[in-house]
Amino acid sequence: MRKTIACMLALAATGLLRMAAAQELSPVEQGIVANIHAHSPQALELLRQSVLINSGTNNLEGVRAVGQLFREQFDALGFQTRWIEMPPEMKRAGHLLATREGPSATGKRLLLLGHIDTVFEPGSAAPLWEPQGNGPDARVRGQGVSDMKGGDVIVIEALRALKQAGVLDGTTIAVMLTGDEEEAGQPRSVSRGDMQAIARRSDVALSFEGSIIDKDGLATATVGRRATAGFELKVAGRQGHSMGVFGVNGNGAIYEAARILDAFRQQVVEPGLTFNPGLIVGGTEVGLDAGETHGTAFGKTNVIANSVVVKSDLRYLDYAQRDRAQARMREIVSHSLPGASASISFEDSYPPMAVTPGNLKLLDAYSRASQDAGLGPIGAVPAEARGAGDIQFIAPLIDSLDGLGAAGKGAHSPNEDLEVGSIERGAVRAALLMYRLTR
Ligand SMILES: [Zn+2]
Repeated sequence: MRKTIACMLALAATGLLRMAAAQELSPVEQGIVANIHAHSPQALELLRQSVLINSGTNNLEGVRAVGQLFREQFDALGFQTRWIEMPPEMKRAGHLLATREGPSATGKRLLLLGHIDTVFEPGSAAPLWEPQGNGPDARVRGQGVSDMKGGDVIVIEALRALKQAGVLDGTTIAVMLTGDEEEAGQPRSVSRGDMQAIARRSDVALSFEGSIIDKDGLATATVGRRATAGFELKVAGRQGHSMGVFGVNGNGAIYEAARILDAFRQQVVEPGLTFNPGLIVGGTEVGLDAGETHGTAFGKTNVIANSVVVKSDLRYLDYAQRDRAQARMREIVSHSLPGASASISFEDSYPPMAVTPGNLKLLDAYSRASQDAGLGPIGAVPAEARGAGDIQFIAPLIDSLDGLGAAGKGAHSPNEDLEVGSIERGAVRAALLMYRLTR
């Protein structure tokens, strides 16, 4: 009963917010919103055109073709555009960069991020474009509709509305649409070097990866994403007759590896931190292939194993958490069982997008813009709920917010779809946020 009343109060409050909100848009902002509404059919058509071109990360021609399609849009908006090539040996298509610079902008300098590649390579079973339903419930199934060509279209639509309202003048905005987000080219210092250089000249990064609607139906954005990293554990034991195990011949490498991994599980776990040993080989002869995803092992039950190799990922919220975990792991590894020894090495991949006060302030501004437009408040996605993304390469440098893109389901699966109305909502929210940030 009490819960029902609380719910009703919450609903009433939301309703009031929405009514009050509509009046909080200035005349310029109301014009921006009206413009986005009026242009919705063209936005969907642009999305359709971009999705009809397969742009799996390894389909370099397709990625470039989508880049060209979007490039024409930025050219029409008066941006300087250029295609950033990657060295041929990296086997990546490159990135689209569109920039405009104001004389001495008083507002924030923005870096907007998207990607034009998808996980669907040519020949994928996923349909390219399959509209489902009409009206407010309309959805589209297709390759990359919500991850994240829908987000790219939101960027273009928001900027177009700002341009038509005459408020792009004086702003400094860079848009980078990467061609290899789903499988970033190596080395990352090259594939993400330009992005980091632009971030150093910007104040705020907004990334348009898919927007997540939480279980209560609340729209969300992302203020933190966990780093991805890994470790390799190598254990050595004394080979000998099994009858001497626990005694003269020591415990062997396999018991030592088990001790270490179980101690990690029992002593290192904390909220936001995970590690997952995904591959283990042990015996008297072990090996991993070059890709370190296949292993071979030889051993006999009457022989004490002398070697084990474990490969694991490691995901953390911020560097303090990483350092804490690594120190604790090294400590555990060092307390070897008799007759065994072990070493652990760590490798970082994507840096963390830590939840900072600056990111939370951006979320607050985004949520206010959404409420002022009558589109409800925006919550925060827990950092653990998302995989790795491009924004992490620059989040350590500037205030960042992600998840401003389109809403859909089944990303990376043949069922990936998009809620068509989320393009318009995303464009309205993004345009208002950008307008306010650049004043
Ligand atoms: Zn994505």
